[in-house]
Amino acid sequence: MTKPQREIGLSSPDITQAEIDAVTEVLRSGRLSLGPAVKAFEQAVAQYCGTRHAIAVSSGTCGLHLLMRSIGVGPGDEVVTTPFSFIASANCVLFDGGRPVFVDIDADTWNIDVDQAASAVTSRTKAILPVHVFGLMCPMDELRAIADRHELRLIEDSCEALGSTYRGQRAGAAADAGVFGFYPNKQITTGEGGMITTDDDEIARLCRSLRNQGRDSGMGWLSHERLGYNYRLSDVSCAIGVAQMRRIDEILSRRSRVAGWYVERLRDEPRVVLQRLPDDCGMSWFVFVVKLADDYDEPTRNDLIHRLRDAGIGSNNYFAPIHLQEFYREQFGYKPGDFPVCEAVAARTVALPFHGKLTESEVDHVCDTLKRLL
Ligand SMILES: *Cc1c(COP(=O)(O)O)cnc(C)c1O
Repeated sequence: MTKPQREIGLSSPDITQAEIDAVTEVLRSGRLSLGPAVKAFEQAVAQYCGTRHAIAVSSGTCGLHLLMRSIGVGPGDEVVTTPFSFIASANCVLFDGGRPVFVDIDADTWNIDVDQAASAVTSRTKAILPVHVFGLMCPMDELRAIADRHELRLIEDSCEALGSTYRGQRAGAAADAGVFGFYPNKQITTGEGGMITTDDDEIARLCRSLRNQGRDSGMGWLSHERLGYNYRLSDVSCAIGVAQMRRIDEILSRRSRVAGWYVERLRDEPRVVLQRLPDDCGMSWFVFVVKLADDYDEPTRNDLIHRLRDAGIGSNNYFAPIHLQEFYREQFGYKPGDFPVCEAVAARTVALPFHGKLTESEVDHVCDTLKRLL
């Protein structure tokens, strides 16, 4: 096969000299862990989201795990969540023996279906864990009403939504606690990393202790109050995070401009459907995903992805339903057909190249190629 003339990757981190200088400064300082960069990064995210606390951790997955621990999810407890997500949002419930109870998604926003979430609550339910899919925030007021009615915790998986809003409230500040992830394809990156955000002093205190081997503040290095982990994020990573947070408005506005170019070119294309973005939500774009129209059938979604890649355009399916992953099927007996809306959306979605450095002519090229291949 001949190599395409140009290659456009699926994602790319937005790293400048500022991040490089910040890392160099930490390396020169000699304080590589538990130093000032951690506090500075936590303060920057807390201030940006409008929460009392932010706790840096080594990944979004670790943050989700600590939140499940800090609200006491254990054997016999259920957490209502969505199967249309990255696997970590359900795995975090399993880590300490809880059970993720899936409900289907809304066919247009691709976020958790609120009515089905309400119906899934049982006497064993401990929390609702909505995921802001691709950056679009869930209807948090309605979810809060369900949580309050049954005295449940409400935890947002905000990993894809740094900077997104719902009725004026930022992701990370719209529930009892939230989590961000900083893998290189996210809005901002620290290489690997995550951040818990919360207004709840008790959740914050527990998460700080649990990420640091169960130590409590004030006590000695070898004094461990509870079973904890090493989920700390290094000062090197946090320094990248501080530099990224200083540039957050610029980073997000570039991504938003690129998304705008895509929307312009694809909103009237009858063979694809875009995620519906309700008026009360402000979008911080994580990825650009299109869904093949329901009456569209050739080439198949997977063929289309391969043909895009052959043409030098990064492309992927996004997401694969969690309940159909092998170990979920084995452990819980899930099967195809259990969550038909999730499965139908998952079978038809295609992620296109998306990051803030894409040019308008690159977006043109992706959209022209997509339309030619459809
Ligand atoms: C990225 C992501 C996470 C966390 O990922 P890490 O790689 O552990 O930082 C969790 N949930 C969702 C929905 C994500 O997209």
